[in-house]
Amino acid sequence: MFSYRHAFHAGNHADVLKHVALLAALEHLQRKDGGLLLVDTHAGAGQYRLDHEAARTSGEAQAGIGALWAHATAHRDAPAAVRAYLDAVAAANPDGALRHYPGSPALLAARLRPQDRLVLFEWHPTDGRLLDRAVRDWRAREPRPAIELRRSDGFTGLRALLPPPSRRGLVLIDPSYELKRDYATVVATLGEALHRFAVGCYVVWYPLIAREQAHALPRRLRALAQHHGRAWLQAELNVGTPADPAAKAAAARGRPAGSLRASGLFVINPPYTLADQLRTALPWLLAALRQGPAAAWKVDAGEAQG
Ligand code: SAM
Repeated sequence: MFSYRHAFHAGNHADVLKHVALLAALEHLQRKDGGLLLVDTHAGAGQYRLDHEAARTSGEAQAGIGALWAHATAHRDAPAAVRAYLDAVAAANPDGALRHYPGSPALLAARLRPQDRLVLFEWHPTDGRLLDRAVRDWRAREPRPAIELRRSDGFTGLRALLPPPSRRGLVLIDPSYELKRDYATVVATLGEALHRFAVGCYVVWYPLIAREQAHALPRRLRALAQHHGRAWLQAELNVGTPADPAAKAAAARGRPAGSLRASGLFVINPPYTLADQLRTALPWLLAALRQGPAAAWKVDAGEAQG
């Protein structure tokens, strides 16, 4: 069984990048009234306590959303995409103290319109139970949102949902990459998803670590998008954490705990506004999150062909 628990990482710089982009993509797609299918293939526990042991021992949230929160208080010029994200985090902390972090399921659930549907997959028994509890609360809101939790494999489960009847959808694929085969499974899953639903917006998160499969993943996703003639976007954020030998050893074992320095997002069929939004947002985020001189960001994009 998996040992990865997102509670140790929730609110870190990788979550910040992923959630800023996710909300910006969703905001664009919801400019149209047509119903959206939203899928989170690797949902986690849904929402997290930042004042509990997991977050406190790792310190990742403090260096991520904690640093950003403080920076945004001191500099009130956050770009629109960052502001929308900070507003969403603030909504999860109504008394103004940063104690709760909304994971992707909570962020998506809070934005669900009556015509949208959210399907969440979480395979870990403990996080599945926690998410189940959160989903029950969200479903009790008025107007009753259409949220389903499936405590099963998100890679295979995605297939059966595509194409959605509305032909409009946003899919987040955010594995823990605990299993080396996850890299190949991401590519295979997306290949099949594009056959079934070529116009869906797909957002894939990946770690930038010293592992061949991790380096190859964005290249393989770019080749896949080009093969299908679809537009794509790649965004990466490196907070420049100085190297230390323990971190190197952890990276060699997989997705590291305290040592993750950089991560990326690969988006297929991105909203046309997303590249510019991220080109404005990422340098601002980096000003808040940088930990060393190697800090860097990039946003590349390619157009649809044919
Ligand atoms: N998307 C979440 C967010 O942004 O808040 C974080 C998800 S976390 C990085 C990855 C989650 O995927 C873990 O909770 C893990 O238990 C779960 N998981 C791993 N393999 C899975 C699979 N094949 N299907 C569904 N969930 C899986």
